[in-house]
Parts: sequence; structure tokens; C-alpha cells
Amino acid sequence: MTPPGFFVLELRRLLAALFAAGTLWLATQDWKLALVALVLVLAICWGWQLARVYRWFADPEQMPPISNSGLGGVLRDVYALRSRDTVAAKTPARSQSYLTDSLASMRDAALIINSDGRLVWCNDAAEYLLDITLEEEEGKPFSDVAPGKSLKRYMREENFQKPLRIKPGPDPEYCLQLEFSRFGANDRLVFIKDVTEQDKLERMRRDFVGNVSHELRTPLTVIKGYIETLQSLMPESDERLIKSLGSMDIQTARMESLISDLLWLSRIESVEGVRKDDQLDLVDLLTHLCDEMRAAWPGRKIELVTSSNLCVLGNAAELRSAISNLIVNALKYSEAPVSVKWSDTVVGPELLVEDQGPGIDPKHIPRLTERFYRVDKSRSQATGGTGLGLAIVKHVAVSHDAKLFIDSELGKGSTFRLVFPNDRAVSCEVCSTESRRADVGQ
Ligand code: ADP
Repeated sequence: MTPPGFFVLELRRLLAALFAAGTLWLATQDWKLALVALVLVLAICWGWQLARVYRWFADPEQMPPISNSGLGGVLRDVYALRSRDTVAAKTPARSQSYLTDSLASMRDAALIINSDGRLVWCNDAAEYLLDITLEEEEGKPFSDVAPGKSLKRYMREENFQKPLRIKPGPDPEYCLQLEFSRFGANDRLVFIKDVTEQDKLERMRRDFVGNVSHELRTPLTVIKGYIETLQSLMPESDERLIKSLGSMDIQTARMESLISDLLWLSRIESVEGVRKDDQLDLVDLLTHLCDEMRAAWPGRKIELVTSSNLCVLGNAAELRSAISNLIVNALKYSEAPVSVKWSDTVVGPELLVEDQGPGIDPKHIPRLTERFYRVDKSRSQATGGTGLGLAIVKHVAVSHDAKLFIDSELGKGSTFRLVFPNDRAVSCEVCSTESRRADVGQ
């Protein structure tokens, strides 16, 4: 209703009352009586209208009281606006039921959790995989529906970039993979896959590599012992035999480092997904590592710059092996000084290892972290490389939610950066000195 319409209607009512009061005045010649009558008529009129409005407020679904007053027009406008809002409010509900209908018909298991982490809905496939019924579990915290420490932590941390594997049932082999995505007002849609077979195969492969490497260790130690004995018994004049034994000794040493790298890799893989939360002072760790490297590579310049004093939540032995692999590579593949830096960035603390060696052709960079991938096989073998160093670095990075960046240009050296997420970094003041010493000493 337009403001002029409102005033015209109310003015008409006022004029009619004034006309009636004027007539009364003329008839009675008593202006006071006419005035009282005018006030009374207007008060009754507006009071009656207000009473109808209050009655309508009690049940606003009904049409508003229609009257030819200005107030009646305003109420009709309010009613029209409300009706429009109700239609709009019904639309998302309709699209939500459309979404749940389509998810229900899917063969893949899906469920919806609200912003409080409670189960709101799931389809038949999810009921089957989790061995639950929606009727019984609806409204319960999802971490109670599918219990497990890892799920509780995963939901608390709300970092859904990587899928989560859980073993919800009494069968220790039964393994489900959950993929979370957010929608609406912080609700979550979760897709569930049965990955029992995949998990079993991955474990078998890991165990196989681990077991073979372990089994090879003993015969290798025996062979190594015999080589050493033969070398000590060999007359110095027999150069051919001395040379053969020398190269056997080098090859057994290579096999030994291969086996120990393979064992280490399978150990890291076997604890992947297990949260590593020791507080590690990287400044201490880097200082110790660089001192060790300087002692092992005398004559080489290793510069250490630490501008961050953040500690990292992680596993000391794994981080130590990853960082030492990066530094050893920089020393192995270049003759120039090596620089190690620990600094803060916007995304989190960063470890940088830089050399001015021959660099790497960019076409090799995407494959460098694959097992046994070598840019120059003969050079790598000559330097005693196993081809597993960067695979170990990559695995350690993944299990610490860190990212490994490799920048290199032929002839200009290489830079390897490990960037840790902010939620893995804590101020070193909260790190106890005790734990720092223990970790570094490992
Ligand atoms: P390896 O034990 O053979 O060194 P890595 O996995 O550590 O195996 O490295 C893979 C390959 O990446 C190496 O064979 C080498 O060719 C290349 N590489 C690694 N680090 C460097 C570096 N700092 N400079 C040049 N090349 C490198």
C-alpha cells in the first residue's frame, strides 16, 4: 500500500466523523456534546480496528481483517510479504529433500552430519557398511556411531583434505575410507568406501618388502664377514683378487644401505596415519645435524640460518632422517657450499636446503620422489645413493602434513623446501627442554 492511499482512507473516515459531529452540533446547538461524540466515535473506530489486528496476530496464517481502513491496507501488504517469505523458505527444504532422495538411491554409501557432529541421515549402503540403522543412531554423535580415536581427532581438527581410514568393527581387517565435504551451514556430507581388500594388499606389500629386507640382512652380514676375513688373509701381491674383493666389499656396503633404507621406508609406511605429536625443537635438531655433517664431510661449508624458533609436532627419528637425506644429497651432488635455513612463512614454518650444484632438469622433478628414480644412475651409484632418499623425505612430509617443494635449474643448483602447516607448529616456549634433549639425542 502506498503512503498516499493510507492517508486518503484515514482522511475519509475523519471527514465522515467530522460531518456527523457537525450535524449533531447544528441539531443540538451544543458544541461540547458534538466534540465528545466525535472523540468517542473515532476512539471506538480505531479501538475496534486494533482489536481485530491483535486477533489476527494470534493466527497470522489467516487472511488479515479486511476493512476499508488505512490499517487494513497495511496488514494486507504485510500478509503478502509473509506469504512470499514462506514460499522462499520452502524452496531449500525442497532442494534438500531432492538431494537426500538422490543420495538415498545411490549405491555408494553416504551420510550427512550436522554442524554439531551428529548423524542426521544416511542411506541404506551406509547402514550396511557401518552395521547400524538410522532409526537407532539418528541424532547421535557420529564419533559414537563409528567409534575410534582417529575419527574423533579427524572431526575435531576439521581438516578434510585427506580421506580417513577407520577400522570400526570387531574384525581387525575390516577397513572403511571416509571422505568428508562441507555444505550448507557447516554440515558435512560423508562418502564411505569399503577398502578392506586394498588395505590388506597394501599391508601385504609393505610386510613383504619389510620381511625380505630383514631376511637379507643375516646372509649379507655373513658375506661381509667372509670378505673382511679374505681381505685380511690375501697376499698383497695378488692384485686381481684384492681388486675383486674390494669391489665385492663396495657392493655389499651398497646392499646394506639399500636394505636399511627399505626397512626404514616400510617402518615409516606402517605407522602412516598414526598422529605424531612429539614437540621437536628444529633449531636444536638442525644444529646437531649440521655439526654431524661437518664432521663427516670435512672441508665442506654448511651454513645454518635459523630465524624461526617454532617447534614442530612430529616424530624425531623420521624428521631427522628426512632432513639428513636432504643435506646429504646437497653435499653429494654439489661441491659448493650448502645452506640450511629454518624460517617462518605465512603458511607455516619452512625448512630449506639449498646447494649450488649441477641442478636437475625440470622434466625429472615430478618423478624424483619415486622409489629408485635417479636422474643420473651412474652418478648416483658412484655417490653410494640407493634411490630411496627422496622417497623417504616425501613419506615423512606426508605423514607430518608437510609439503615438499623442489626447485632446480640445470647448472644453477637446487632448493628443497619442507613446509609444515601452522597447526603443526608451536612456540618453543611451550616445549619442555627435557623433551627437546631427548628427541635430539635419538
Ligand atoms: P639417491 O640415493 O640416489 O641420492 P634420492 O632419492 O635421494 O636417491 O635422489 C633421487 C635423485 O635425485 C638422485 O639420484 C639425484 O639424481 C637427484 N638429486 C637429489 N638431490 C639432488 C641435489 N641436491 N642435486 C642434484 N640432484 C639431486
